[in-house]
Amino acid sequence: MSDKVRIATASLAGCFGCHMSLLDIDERLIELVAHVEFDRTPLTDIKQIGHCDVGLIEGGVCNAENVEVLKAFRQHCNLLVAVGACAINGGIPAMRNQYSLTECLEEAYLHGSGIDQPQIPNDPELPLLLDQVHPIHDVVWVDYFLPGCPPSADTIFTFLDELLSGKPIQFAYRQIRYD
Ligand code: SF4
Repeated sequence: MSDKVRIATASLAGCFGCHMSLLDIDERLIELVAHVEFDRTPLTDIKQIGHCDVGLIEGGVCNAENVEVLKAFRQHCNLLVAVGACAINGGIPAMRNQYSLTECLEEAYLHGSGIDQPQIPNDPELPLLLDQVHPIHDVVWVDYFLPGCPPSADTIFTFLDELLSGKPIQFAYRQIRYD
């Protein structure tokens, strides 16, 4: 049986920028991979999450499928981490919260510029949109919050390195300033 730390990741209402930042860890990924194995993540293309030590969640919660994925992560992960502004406070996707869902759909599919065949999609295969975009802690308990848009590769590496080695999580000032 492997003694590696098992990690899963998911992008809910996000842009994959936080996942890209994880990959920007570059050659230090080799260091991490010596101690880590990946479960469900866009990197492995595994669709169902198994038992994991750590779950990294990018993005806010905007639809019913996001709620389902997030609850599965909470159920299967010992520690859940909100990675980036969208997971922490809804971020860019939550800008739609100042409008009703109907207004958003009508602007996107009926009245916006460049629309050729106005029609609001209603295929039953599409996940139902929530009225508002939520930060993930509105839906499940979150153990750690990693701010930034995205958090830098350096910040993500420091976090994982300290978490995996059981040290207190501490960041240099340059890793948590955003101006
Ligand atoms: Fe993209 Fe920024 Fe949201 Fe991460 S926090 S998913 S980089 S918009």
